[in-house]
Amino acid sequence: MTVTTADAPTAQLTRQDRCDRCGAQAYVRATLPGGSDLLFCGHHFRAHEAALAGAGADVLDERHLID
Ligand SMILES: [Zn+2]
Repeated sequence: MTVTTADAPTAQLTRQDRCDRCGAQAYVRATLPGGSDLLFCGHHFRAHEAALAGAGADVLDERHLID
């Protein structure tokens, strides 16, 4: 498959993605304007949500997939 767009496709989070803060399964990925990714569980995303929004992070929220 050839990627023709400038932006990489948004990959979904998997069971291998872990919260950077506590190691639980990650359900939210925040991409900072500088390009670095941060992964959060639901709990830690809520704890950092305001700061991430303030930093202009691009957020992929998959908390609806939590069992
Ligand atoms: Zn966490």
